[in-house]
Amino acid sequence: MPPFVCVIGSSNTDMVIKGQKLPAPGETVIGGTFLMNPGGKGANQAVAAARLAATAPMLGSNESVTTTSVTFVSNVGNDVFGRQARQQFEREGIRTDFVTTDADEPSGVALIGVDSQGENCIMVASGANARLSQVQVSMALAAAVSTETTVVLLQLESPVPTVEYAIRQSHARGMRVVLNPAPAQPLDPAVLACLHLITPNETEAELLTGIRVTDEATALKAAHKLHESGVPNVVITLGARGAFLSTRTGASLVAAPPVTAVDTTAAGDCFNGALAVAIAEGQSLPDAVAFACKAASISVTRMGAQVSMPHRHEVDALPL
Ligand code: ATP
Repeated sequence: MPPFVCVIGSSNTDMVIKGQKLPAPGETVIGGTFLMNPGGKGANQAVAAARLAATAPMLGSNESVTTTSVTFVSNVGNDVFGRQARQQFEREGIRTDFVTTDADEPSGVALIGVDSQGENCIMVASGANARLSQVQVSMALAAAVSTETTVVLLQLESPVPTVEYAIRQSHARGMRVVLNPAPAQPLDPAVLACLHLITPNETEAELLTGIRVTDEATALKAAHKLHESGVPNVVITLGARGAFLSTRTGASLVAAPPVTAVDTTAAGDCFNGALAVAIAEGQSLPDAVAFACKAASISVTRMGAQVSMPHRHEVDALPL
C-alpha cells in the first residue's frame, strides 16, 4: 500500500497586474502587464506533493511509477476557472474525487496588484472555497487510507470550523495531521493537541505565540509556547535561512541550500507539500525538513507558484 497524502484546502485563480504604481482609493492606473496563474495554498501544496511523490523506475522502461498517492479535497465553482483548475490537478496526477463543483458560488479568485518596487496589494474573493463543508471532509477521510503513515495537510484559507473538524477527525482515525497555519488566525486550543506538526512562518509564529521570531533563540521560545499548547512538533520556516525544527526531545536549525532566488511566491507551499510527502514515506522529521528545504530552494529559483514546484528527481539530484 503506498503512503498517502490528503491535502485539504483552497484553490484560487490568481490574476496579477504588474505596473509602475498601485492605485490609491478611487484612482485608475493605466499600464502594466497581466498574468493569470493557478493558485490557492491548498492547490499549490497538492501540486508540490504530487510532483514530489516518490517514483521508482519501471523495469525495462523509462517510465516511472508513483508510489505515493495525493488526494485533494477542495471546492471550485461551476465556471471556466473551476474547470481549468480540475484539469490542472488531473494533469499533475492528483486524485480529484473530492474536488467538488459548487452549483452556486464562483471559483475563488485573487486580484493582485504589484508595483515596480515589488510591493503588492491583494483582494481575495473566496467564492466556493468558503463553502468547503464538514460533509465533504468526512466523505474524503472515510475513503482515505487510515494508517499512521497517512498524512493530512491543511491550511487556513478554508472555513475554520471545517479545518478544525478535519483535524479532529483525521487524528481520531490515527492519521498524522500537518497544519500550515496560513493565514494565521485563532484556533480552538483543543484542536492544536490533535496535530502531529504545525508549520508557521515567522509572522504566523508571532501571531500564534506573541513572540517576535528573529533568530534561533526566539524561534525556540515560540516553538516551546506551541509545545505548551499541545503540539508535539513545530517547524518555523525562516525564509532564506531555512527552517527551525523543534520536537519534545530537541531542536535544531536546518539550513536552506544557498540559491539565487528570483521569486519566493509559494515557497512555503512547496515546503509544506514536500514535508507531507517525506513524512508519509516514513522519513524522520530532521530528514523530512531537510528534504522540504531542498525542494523549496528549487522553487524560489523559478517564477510563479504551481509552475515553480520541483519534481522528485530534481530534489534527489541535489547533494545531501
Ligand atoms: P511564501 O509566503 O513566500 O510562500 P512563507 O513566508 O510561507 O513563504 P518562508 O519561510 O519564506 O515561507 O519560506 C519557506 C521555505 O522556503 C524556507 O523554510 C526555505 O526552506 C525556503 N526558502 C525561502 N526563501 C528562500 C531563499 N531565498 N533561498 C533558499 N530557500 C528559501
